[in-house]
This record gives sequence, C-alpha cells and structure tokens, in this order.
Amino acid sequence: MLFKEVCDIFNKIESTTKRLEKMDYFIELIKLTNKKGSAEDLKKICYITIGRVFAEYENKELGIGPSLLIEAVKTIGIDEKKLLNTIKETGDMGMAVEKLSSDIKQISLFQTPPTLDDIYDTLKKISEIEGANSQKKKIRHISSLLLKASPLERRYIVRLILEDMRIGMNVPTILGAFSVYFNIPKEKLEKIYAVVNDIGLIAEKLMLNVDIDNDEDLKLRIFRPIKPMLAQLIPSIDDAIIEMGAPQFETKYDGARVQIHKKNKDVKIYSRKLEDITNSIPEIVEEVKNMDVNNIIVEGECVAIDLKTGHPRPFQDILRRFRRKYDIDKMKEEINLRVYLFDILYYNKPLIDLPLKERREILENIVGTNDWEKDKIKIENEIKSKKKIDISYKLTTDNIKKALEFYKWSLSIGHEGVMIKNPNAPYTPGSRVKTMYKFKPTLESLDVVITKAKIGMGKRKDWYGSFEISVRDEEGNLYPIGHVGSGLSEEELGKLTEMINSIKINEIDGETIVEPKIVLEVTYEEIQESDKYECGYALRFPRVVRIRDDKSVDDINTIDDVKRIFAIQKGKSKKFMKGD
Ligand code: ATP
Repeated sequence: MLFKEVCDIFNKIESTTKRLEKMDYFIELIKLTNKKGSAEDLKKICYITIGRVFAEYENKELGIGPSLLIEAVKTIGIDEKKLLNTIKETGDMGMAVEKLSSDIKQISLFQTPPTLDDIYDTLKKISEIEGANSQKKKIRHISSLLLKASPLERRYIVRLILEDMRIGMNVPTILGAFSVYFNIPKEKLEKIYAVVNDIGLIAEKLMLNVDIDNDEDLKLRIFRPIKPMLAQLIPSIDDAIIEMGAPQFETKYDGARVQIHKKNKDVKIYSRKLEDITNSIPEIVEEVKNMDVNNIIVEGECVAIDLKTGHPRPFQDILRRFRRKYDIDKMKEEINLRVYLFDILYYNKPLIDLPLKERREILENIVGTNDWEKDKIKIENEIKSKKKIDISYKLTTDNIKKALEFYKWSLSIGHEGVMIKNPNAPYTPGSRVKTMYKFKPTLESLDVVITKAKIGMGKRKDWYGSFEISVRDEEGNLYPIGHVGSGLSEEELGKLTEMINSIKINEIDGETIVEPKIVLEVTYEEIQESDKYECGYALRFPRVVRIRDDKSVDDINTIDDVKRIFAIQKGKSKKFMKGD
C-alpha cells in the first residue's frame, strides 16, 4: 500500500471535527486495506494513527526529539530560521515542513513513491539505532524519508516522528470504527483492548477473522502488562459503606504502583506507566524469584521504607530507584524498598473476572494474611523489618467507627489514607471504577501536564521557573488551567529545565512551547470558575507536590475531573471533612 493513500484519508479525518465523520473516514481506510493491503498493513496503520510505531503496552518511544528533527529538516534544504517562523505561524512542525516543501532539494523524478512499509519499517529501524554516531545516522534516515515523500506525506511523517498526529483520532474512535465495520459490540472490543493494550493486534485479528472470544493472543498474558484499574475519590467513608455494605478497606500506601509478572524463574516488573523497571529493583526481583509459585501476575504498591521509623520516605526516593540505571547496588543500600501486594490478576489462568474476595483469598494463600483486626500487633512489629514483599493491610467491615479507626491508623503510620474496595467486583483494567475508592484527608490533587515554560527571574534566572499546566478532555485535547512555579526545589527546577530543553518545540512571546510529556502533581487552594481559560476553570494558588515521572499525558486528570472536584468543593465543608 502506498503511504500516500493513507495520508489522503488522514487529511480527510483531520479536516472534520465530527467524531462520526472521523470514524467513517477511518472505515474507508479499513476498506482500502481490505482491497489493497493485508492484516499487517491495518496493524501498522492503527499504530501510525495514534502516533506510534510500537504497541501501546510496549511503552517504547521513537526517541527523536524536536531538535534532532529540525537538524534533519535542515539537511534537506529548509532554512532553520524560516522553519522556526513557519512553526510559529502554524503551531505545527508537520504543517511547516509541508508548507516549505518547495525549498526542498529535488531528487530524481523517477523516484518511486514511499509505501506504508517504507515509512513504518524505516522509523522502527531508526528507533533501534544506538551507539557511536547514532544521531548522525538517525538524521540521515529521516532526511532520506522526507526527500522521498510528497508535501502531504511530509506533514504526517514529521508528526509521526513527534508522536503527535493531530488528526483527532484515538483508540476509542478506532474501536468505534471497528465495531461498525466488523459488526461487533464496542463494549466487547473495549474489554479486549483493556487486556491487550495493543490496537494493532486487535486490528490484525479482526482482519484475519479470528474467533475473538477464544483467541489466546487476546487474553491476559504473562509479560504483556495491562493498564491498571483506577480508583475514584470518595468524599466520606460512610458513603462507601452505604454503597458497598461491608467493603474491603486497605491502607493506601504512599508509594508507586508495580505490576509483577513471574513465569518460572523469569520475573519482570512494570511501573504504573507499564515501563519495564525490572533492572532497577533487583532485591525485589530476587524475592519474587524465590516465591514458591509460578505463572502469576500480581499488583502492589512499592514503598521506600525508612527502617528507623517504619514510615514511608518521600515519593521521589522511589522514583530515584525506578529511574536508576547505574550504581544500583549503592542505591539499594540507601533506599530500602518494600512491595505491598494488593491484587492477583493471573495464576496459571486469568483471574480478573473473579470477585475481589476470591482473588484476595488466592493472594493470601500465596503471600499470607494481614488482617488488621487480628494481626495488628504482628503488623506493627514488622513495619520496621527488612521484609521486601508483604500483603496489604486489610479490614473488611460495615462498621463506620472501626473503618475510621483503621483510616486514622493508616495515616499514623505515614500513609495516604485508605482504599475502599467492593469485595464482589471483578478487576476492570484501564478504567476508573466505582468499585474501588480512595479516601484521603485532603482535597484531591491534580495531575497536569506542562504545555509551556517560562524562564524564571532573579535567583531562578538560569532555570525555567513558571509553567503553564493543562488538563485534557476525553479525546486527549489539552486545556490550560493555570500557571505554577512554587513547590519546586532547586534540584527539581534544574531537572525540569533539562527535561524541557529536550522537548522544546518552539518559542513564542518569551514562552517555550513543549511537547506535553512532563506530568506534575499539583495541589491548589481551590478551583475557580474562570473566563481566562477555555476550559472555564482555573486553579487558585497551585503548588507542585511532585514531578510524576510515573505518569504520562494519558494519565493526567480530565476537565470532567475538574468539574467533579469543583462540585465536591462547593458542597464540601462538613461532608467532605467527615473522618478527619
Ligand atoms: P494517586 O495520585 O492518588 O496515587 P493515582 O492516580 O495514581 O492516584 P488512583 O487509582 O487514583 O491512582 O489511586 C489508587 C492508587 O493508589 C493506585 O494506583 C496505587 O498506586 C495506590 N495504592 C496504594 N495502596 C493501594 C492499595 N492498597 N490498593 C490499591 N491501590 C493502592
């Protein structure tokens, strides 16, 4: 299939804002593939549509930043200044390169137009280039791709390299198109997607007409991480008890989520973003290897424990461990980790459809119990131990007083609050569910992404010191909601400056526009309604709690979350503070 044929349809998709029309155009693409291409082609098209060359679960990026891309564009004859000005005008490097195509050196007229495979395979190859001269080699490959392409194709190649296709298509819309074309209920496809986390694989299987209910590749599988089930905030413990009867309360640990996969002696550990962090936490891997079970997927919270107090150390300490590539043994001594397991998703077979109480029983049979009412003394004795793997502290009750006592005790040992889980609920990957709540003492913090940055003043003049922060809508469009500058240490400002320099897109009116990649967790005094921002809300006195390296732009809060917190805040006062 020619890449041009795909781009022509991308152009049509981009030209409409209507979701249904976008879906119809995508169906055209499926039909075209059916006629001229293969199942493998549709797989590649799906990845490209969402700005990737790898499956989502693989968590691999192309790793070509805007500055390297600009270098490549320069080598084909486009003047840098002109390029930067056109980016400023259009706000889009893809469009800018398309517009300046007449400046590009001509190559032979008899050049064959690039195929879908040419583009996809070359980009995949570029991502694998490592070692000496790798930058130069990458630039060479990119420029030869751009030289071969037509102006419209260049728009999409540039955007694909920047992993932002700007055609307004996301996985739910693609699934919607599949649902119509292949006549399968969308909910069914969504359920499969949540487990495989790979839109290309689903496309390929549908094209091959497999029995999607029974295909082994479409089931939960060890070493293919799944998106975690997420919780909602609940304003009071009473509400949860009214809703669930006798929920399973668990300590909400102040740490970072991990998903552990084990098959015989092979172990892999994934972060919340599904990054493979196995090599950075060898002591946990060792402990899991020694567990007397095979073929399991378990989930838990990894906490840095201060062995003197038994309390958790700052969240950044865990991230320092997860990010670490060198001196791991030294770090191991410095920052002591423990994983509190709270769920089991696979044991010789997928368990996610079982109710939580049955999954917990299986987990307890493997790791032991930690029933707060019965085991409180044992738990308190073990808090300062060097135990590496434990099971979460649990209390199942319909008694509000007891639940509150457990909540306060969880806070007293330094953790965030409690999780409140419906014992009868299955595990729903990738969704923020109403069967698992979190209850914390403060107003919910927000995860936002940096969209612009400004150099600081005075003492902060060498760093970026103020950041425009944005939330997203369901489609993934970003909306600014405030500017934040406080709450960051000098070390963090230095780190942010380095990160921003590597994802810089452009500079307009003294502000640096960046790729939306850095996630911050912020608190604020309150959410206000505001005309200043398109989303209609603004954060009053936002303050950074931490840089959330463990989250990506897909994980940030949505405008709906902001609306929900705004509503809670309005009716807050007494009800919200119950349990304080
Ligand atoms: P937060 O920012 O509040 O940590 P989040 O956005 O990371 O939340 P949520 O689903 O909203 O994720 O909150 C649940 C998180 O709490 C889980 O992702 C997990 O990392 C953590 N957690 C700590 N203890 C537990 C527990 N016992 N059971 C489940 N999750 C727990």
